[in-house]
Amino acid sequence: MYKENFHSHTKYCDGKNTPEEMVSSAIEKGFTALGFSGHAYIDAFDCGWCMSEEGSLQYINEINNIKNKYKDKINIYCGTELDYFCGKLPGEYEYTIGSVHYLNEGDEYPAVDSSLKEQQEAADRYFGSSLIEYAVKYFELAGGVCEKFNADIIGHFDIVAKFNEADCAFDTKDRRYKKAWQDAVDRLIPYNKPFEINTGAIARGVRLTPYPAIDIAEYIHERGGFFILTSDCHDAGKLDFFFDDALQMYSKYNIVKFSEIIK
Ligand SMILES: [Zn+2]
Ligand SMILES: [Zn+2]
Repeated sequence: MYKENFHSHTKYCDGKNTPEEMVSSAIEKGFTALGFSGHAYIDAFDCGWCMSEEGSLQYINEINNIKNKYKDKINIYCGTELDYFCGKLPGEYEYTIGSVHYLNEGDEYPAVDSSLKEQQEAADRYFGSSLIEYAVKYFELAGGVCEKFNADIIGHFDIVAKFNEADCAFDTKDRRYKKAWQDAVDRLIPYNKPFEINTGAIARGVRLTPYPAIDIAEYIHERGGFFILTSDCHDAGKLDFFFDDALQMYSKYNIVKFSEIIK
């Protein structure tokens, strides 16, 4: 059984619940550890769903308080989910998730994970209408989250396929797509950091399968990479959403507990 989650959002960013509500749910589910990973402040542009500068400091303060309050029941960690375009952060965190939620073209930061429409508009504008070329650009950034931040966890590695269930928007067998994610994996592997098996989009009803796709997981595994399981939780009731199914689906691969490797 996998009784922990290190990818959790609260009202400090775009989650539904307070940190304390998340902790209660975790305890109810028999979790032994819970890591908070509020969306880190971005100074380059207003992302709308990230923590503010002041909110980041309040968040750190509150998580550290409840860490103490519940220390006999559960181990709580104060982390943050970085975006590729984060600059210097207000405050200190115990761990970071390295994620890409935006591309950058000129002064524009088109969002990767908000809708297929927004992806297609950016593809039309910057990539000759090709979602494959759009994805290639995404993986150039995603391959850099350890180089750039030395992130402790590699977040939702192929989120660019969020709206592409069963290849409905683009062909994931396209050799350019495959080369892009393989190159990104090759850049990340030397850092020896876990890739997420992330069930968040299933909880939100957008996908039927976790990130990363099985062929990507297989490649990561062949290269000596390993995984942690997370729910990218935005709703306290869904902290362990799809965990049992995901453990079965990815049972061939090395899935570890982040609580056992966090320093
Ligand atoms: Zn994310
Ligand atoms: Zn997240």
